[in-house]
Amino acid sequence: MLASLFKFRGGVKPASHKDESTQAPIARAPLPAQLVVPLRQSAGGTPQPLVSAGQKVLKGERIGAPEGSFSAAIHAPTSGSVRAVESHMLPHPSGLSAPCVVIEPDGEERWIERVPVNYATASPDALRDLLRDSGVVGLGGATFPSHLKLKPGAAGRIGTLIINGAECEPWITCDDLLMRERAGEIVRGIAILRHIASAERVLIGIEDNKPQAIAAMRAATAQSGDIEVVPVPTRYPAGGEKQLIRVLTGIEIPYGRIGPEFGVQCFNVGTARSVHRAIELGEPLISRIVTLTGNVERPGNFEVLIGTPIDELLTLAAPKADTDRFIMGGPMMGFTLPRTDLPVTKAANCILAASPALFPPQGPEMPCIRCGACTRACPAELQPHELYWFSRAKNFGKAQEYGIFDCIECGCCAYVCPSNIRLVDYYRFAKSSMRTLEREKAASDAARVRFEFRNQREEREKAEKAARLAAKTAAARQAIAGADKPAPAAAPTQATAGPAQALPQLDDAKKALIAAAIARAQAQKEGVQPKNIDNLTPEKQAEIREIEARRAQVREMAKTPPEEPV
Ligand code: SF4
Ligand code: SF4
Repeated sequence: MLASLFKFRGGVKPASHKDESTQAPIARAPLPAQLVVPLRQSAGGTPQPLVSAGQKVLKGERIGAPEGSFSAAIHAPTSGSVRAVESHMLPHPSGLSAPCVVIEPDGEERWIERVPVNYATASPDALRDLLRDSGVVGLGGATFPSHLKLKPGAAGRIGTLIINGAECEPWITCDDLLMRERAGEIVRGIAILRHIASAERVLIGIEDNKPQAIAAMRAATAQSGDIEVVPVPTRYPAGGEKQLIRVLTGIEIPYGRIGPEFGVQCFNVGTARSVHRAIELGEPLISRIVTLTGNVERPGNFEVLIGTPIDELLTLAAPKADTDRFIMGGPMMGFTLPRTDLPVTKAANCILAASPALFPPQGPEMPCIRCGACTRACPAELQPHELYWFSRAKNFGKAQEYGIFDCIECGCCAYVCPSNIRLVDYYRFAKSSMRTLEREKAASDAARVRFEFRNQREEREKAEKAARLAAKTAAARQAIAGADKPAPAAAPTQATAGPAQALPQLDDAKKALIAAAIARAQAQKEGVQPKNIDNLTPEKQAEIREIEARRAQVREMAKTPPEEPV
C-alpha cells in the first residue's frame, strides 16, 4: 500500500548546505588520548558509576548502571584505565557539569565478550531490557531511551513504525551518509524494532533532497516488500517527530501525548542501526556519526567514540582562521558551545563552525510589529508573538495557556521575524523558569508534608507518654491503697483491680515489675522494728510507745472487713 502524504502547517525553507559535508565517505575518528564519558546521556536518571579510579576496563564494558527503568546504561568506548570518576562540564547551553568517567585508552581496543542474540527467538521484554543495558537511545538529538519508546501505549500495540531519515536541519548530513553507506544495518535494526513492537506497517521518511539515500534504502528494503521508503517534501522541520508522523500518516499527536497512544512510533535511522549492533552483534552504543562542517577546510562525517574531546575532533576538519564560535547541532535548533574541550555525547549529531561571513550577526532586536509572520511559520500552530509577550513579561500562566510546551523550539518563528527577535531564547527562558518553579513547588510541598508528619508524630508521642505516666501514677496509687486495704473479692475493674491488674494497658513485664516493687514495700512495712529509743528521755519514750500502739491498732482495724450497711 503506497503511503499518501499529508501536510503540516508552517515551516520554512532555509538553504540546506548539505553538499559541503557529503563529498567524502564516513571516516573513523582516531582514538583520542583521553575519553570523558558522561554518565547521564539520556532522558531519565543519572546512571550509577560501576567503576572507580585505577580500574581497568574493556571496550564495551558497562561503566554506568541504568537508574530504574527510565535511563540507559553507559559503556566504556575503548579498553584502558579509569583515571577518575569526577564532574566535568558537558556540551549544554547552560554549561552544566555532571559526573563523568575519565578513561585513558591503552590503544589495544580489547572488547568484552560480545554475545549476539537471535531476535526472532527472543521475547519483546527481553529485547527491551537488552536495549536498555546496551545504552541504546534516540540518536536524532533527543536521546530518549529506545526501550521506553517500544512500550505499547493505550492503543495496545504500535501498529505503524516510522523511521526518520528526513534530516531536515541545514548543514547536518550524518543520517544521509549513514543511509547511503550502511542501509543494510539500518534495515536489520528496523526488523528488530518491528519484531518488538509487532508493527504491521513500516514507513521510512526521507526528505526528497537526498536521492542517494533514498536509492540506497530502497535497495536495502527490496527483499522486505512491506517496508516503504517514502520521499517527503523538503521543508524544515519535516524531520520533527510529530511533523513526520503527521506527513506520513495524517495523525496529529497533541502535547502531552505520545505516539504509542495512537498506535504509531518514530525512530531515527541511526537508532535503528544501533539496535541492530546491540542485539545481533552484542555491541553496546559507544560511538556515533558526527558531521563536522561549516567554516572548516575539510568538512565531512566521522564515526566518533563517545567521550572524544570536541577540540581533538575539530583538528580533523581544520576550522578556518576566522571561525568565531562552534555550534552543536544545526543553525536552527543548535546552541553555541561554551568551550570546545567538551566531550562528544550520544546527542552530538553535528559540530558547525561559524564565522561572521557564514552567519552574519543578527541585527539588534526591534519591537514586535505584530506582522503575524511567526504565526504563519509555526509548525506547532502556536502564536509565537503572544508567547513572546507572555514570556518576556514572565506571565508564565498565560504562556502555558497559549501552549508554550507545545513549542518544539524549531526556530522557524525567529527565522522569519523581521524584528530580529530571538524568540526561541524567550521560550527557553520561560520553559526553564516554569520547570524550576515546578521543582521548587514540588520540593516545598514535600517539605510541608514532612513537617506535618513530624508534628503529628510528636503529638502522638506526647499523648502516649502522658498515658503511660497516668497509668503509672494510677498503678502507684492503687498499690498504696491496696497495701493498706485489701481489694474486695469482686471482679477487678480499672478502679479496683490490684496493682498489676489496674494497668491493663501495660505489658506483662511492666506489671510484674510493679507487683514486685509493691511486694517489697509491703514486706518492708510488715517487718518494721521498733526504733531504739533507749537513749531518749522517759517522757519521749512513753510518747513514741503510745504512737506505735495507735498505729498497730489502726493496722488491725484495716484488716477487719467493713460492716455491711443496714
Ligand atoms: S514575526 Fe516578529 S514582529 Fe512579526 S509578529 Fe512575530 S514576533 Fe512580532
Ligand atoms: S520555535 Fe516554537 S513557537 Fe517558534 S515556530 Fe517553532 S514551534 Fe512555533
